[in-house]
Amino acid sequence: MNLRLFNTLSGQLDEVLPADGAVLRMYACGPTVYDYGHIGNFRTFLQVDILRRALRLFGVPVRHVMNITDVDDKIIRNAAAAGVPIAEYTPKFEQAFLEDLDSLAVERPEILTRATQHISEMVHLVERLAGKNAAYRTEDGNWYFRLKAFPEYGKLSKKDLEGMTDGARVDVDEYERDSARDFALWKATNAGETGWETAIGRGRPGWHLECSAMAMEYLGESFDLHAGGEDLMFPHHENEIAQSESATGKMFARHWFHVRFLLVNGRKMSKSEGNFFTLRDLLLRSYKASAIRLALISVPYRHQLNFTFDGLVEATSAIDRLRTFASRLRAASLEDGSTAAGLATAACAQESFLAALANDLNTAEARAAIFELVRDGNIALDAGRLRSEDRDAMLRVLDVFDSVFAVIADNDAAPTKTAVEWARAHGKLNEVAPELLAASTLTDAEIDARVEERNLARRQRNFRRADEIRDELASLGIILEDGRDGVRWKRK
Ligand code: AMP
Ligand code: ZN
Repeated sequence: MNLRLFNTLSGQLDEVLPADGAVLRMYACGPTVYDYGHIGNFRTFLQVDILRRALRLFGVPVRHVMNITDVDDKIIRNAAAAGVPIAEYTPKFEQAFLEDLDSLAVERPEILTRATQHISEMVHLVERLAGKNAAYRTEDGNWYFRLKAFPEYGKLSKKDLEGMTDGARVDVDEYERDSARDFALWKATNAGETGWETAIGRGRPGWHLECSAMAMEYLGESFDLHAGGEDLMFPHHENEIAQSESATGKMFARHWFHVRFLLVNGRKMSKSEGNFFTLRDLLLRSYKASAIRLALISVPYRHQLNFTFDGLVEATSAIDRLRTFASRLRAASLEDGSTAAGLATAACAQESFLAALANDLNTAEARAAIFELVRDGNIALDAGRLRSEDRDAMLRVLDVFDSVFAVIADNDAAPTKTAVEWARAHGKLNEVAPELLAASTLTDAEIDARVEERNLARRQRNFRRADEIRDELASLGIILEDGRDGVRWKRK
């Protein structure tokens, strides 16, 4: 069975197979490491994970490259505000991002690469474009891509370049250029600002340039598949195509995979709306990593996902059902042999599961096929109708399912522990659900801080809050004694 996926470029479902007949070369735009990743970001990275796992299941080896954008305007602004160079600012967010990928059981790409390690390849690409008159330098030292040099511009997002009026572009800035639609390849910087001294002048790369240079460095000038969230289709991916194809004269990526956005309670996620969640926020509220993973992957990548807490609770109980079924199967003492019905149930579930994935990664139907197996398997177990080979066949189907979904194997303790340790190190223990704190003992200093917080609440006559803190500490086995000379605490 071959995997068919919607290709934004061709506008239809295309088979995804390696052009070289051996390894599928794919590039996925990675994170900009200026903050912690939010669940929208992870929805996209998870769907790319589903893609690479499904490809493996269909027997297609992958070479997956992901960049880390470790230089950009927001990084430079945040690093300046923190008073450190960008090279000191980004590593902690890159580290957190990788931890979060591990928490969500997202497989690491074969190649993970940072923008700042590829400045010379980017400069070289600008030189190549300049050599073809597709790039030009303005007086202030910036380099722009000449859109007129690439008549196919708009072929990915199906935007009509002629219809776009000058100034209607996304990143209009103040510099002189031939056309307001020409986009920046390289931004000049002054000494003292973040920048590199290069053959095209002092400056730093534009974001689009980074991805083109890194993709071509590791995958060649022409490769199989390029992935990212739907917001990247225009202008980011359109610009990647324009610069890469203008430089090489070859098709850049054959297949474009775009993941639709995640909404929270039907609205765009935003800090000001109060509906913005990082992965860590959810883990600290004691949702399990596996449930977060399942909730983010169960809606197929081309559908908008409306994230809700009810959805997370549903995912939690779905995982319970799966795990209970798997352990029931393993523990059952069954007669040797097989039954036609038992084997058919397993075979049918596997076939539907694979067919659903092959059909544009329909994770919702793939998941439904496995839940049918859970239902029928449980009924057969209850009725004493299952034989040992039926069981083995069903367990094998669960393994196939989990090679893509990765939620049955219970690895939930580690992500929670990582998140609580992070909260502890960042003075955010007040954001941790009490039941999680119980599992990790508070230090004396942390208890003192809590007691002090309660004293303050009492002085402010906020007795409700004071009682809450006392109860919370009690639930962690810490008893407070209100004496005449202050409050003392002891461990139960
Ligand atoms: P960034 O770190 O902002 O460059 O984003 C990393 C990835 O997350 C990109 O592929 C984005 O398209 C994707 N992304 C950002 N917000 C969302 C969202 N709400 N839903 C799905 N994907 C998103
Ligand atoms: Zn990119």
